[in-house]
Amino acid sequence: MLGYQTTIKDKIEFKGIGVHSGLPVCMTLLPSEANTGIVFNVTCPKTGNVEDIGANFNSIGATDLCTVLGNPEKVYIATVEHLMAALRALNVDNVIVEVDANEVPVMDGSSRVFVEAVKSTGLTMLAAARCYIRVNKPIRVDMGASWGEFIPFNGTRYEVEIDFDCELIGRQSYKGDLTAESFDKDLSGARTFGFMKDVERLWAAGFALGSSLENSIVIGDDNNVINPEGLRFKDEFVRHKTLDAVGDLALAGAPILGCYRSYRGGHKLNSLVLEALLADNRAYDFVESNVSQTRVSHNDLVAVSAPAFAASLI
Ligand SMILES: [Zn+2]
Repeated sequence: MLGYQTTIKDKIEFKGIGVHSGLPVCMTLLPSEANTGIVFNVTCPKTGNVEDIGANFNSIGATDLCTVLGNPEKVYIATVEHLMAALRALNVDNVIVEVDANEVPVMDGSSRVFVEAVKSTGLTMLAAARCYIRVNKPIRVDMGASWGEFIPFNGTRYEVEIDFDCELIGRQSYKGDLTAESFDKDLSGARTFGFMKDVERLWAAGFALGSSLENSIVIGDDNNVINPEGLRFKDEFVRHKTLDAVGDLALAGAPILGCYRSYRGGHKLNSLVLEALLADNRAYDFVESNVSQTRVSHNDLVAVSAPAFAASLI
């Protein structure tokens, strides 16, 4: 299975709200052909304009509170990271994501609903080899007190550390190899989180309008979890940050063979480290599967992927 591309066996529908817009969203995942990649087919609710936006690095439009693909002034799709994490971790390479809003529905604030739906629908193997991006040398980005790096590793691994000036969270770290099973068990259920003290400022700026206890862990002014059900994991915060990194790095357009490490990271840092990796063609190469690890040249991959990505570049 690992050597071949996949798509989903059947369409999958989700209904929810956008965590930032607060508006209802209908989203349908459709099976698609090899080398399509993940493509968002977005219908802008304000103008009715329809655009295909490829889930790849060139489409990133903003990384402030969530990862936005497309042009934030025109047609765009926000908060893609939890869906992208689920698709990458479950080895789903090709899907058309039809969405009638500018935001992926937040569901419960984690990737759990997406993972459950893909698992119960199942995958179809396609007659095309999967390409991997293999990290060949360390690449590091420092950003104030934060840093992130890729280092060569035989497999896919995440080592994520957070350090919040908040007693409840403090310093937490997650280290683990990424597989469909480890993502499902250890990461997919970890929810997004926010601080009560930030809510009014975010609302005034037009963000987090759909945020509620049903889709976010909310930390109160007394360093307590407001949600009556409490936490799903003692270290749910760093697990969610790891989930976000899996989703952000999925915008490489191919799975990455390497170890991603970050300290006090976020969407912006994740995208900067990915940008630094892809900007240095001595830092990585493409291999056709993680079984044979056959080398292919950069030119070969560009030729192979051009039809898939051409429609999505803006
Ligand atoms: Zn998140």
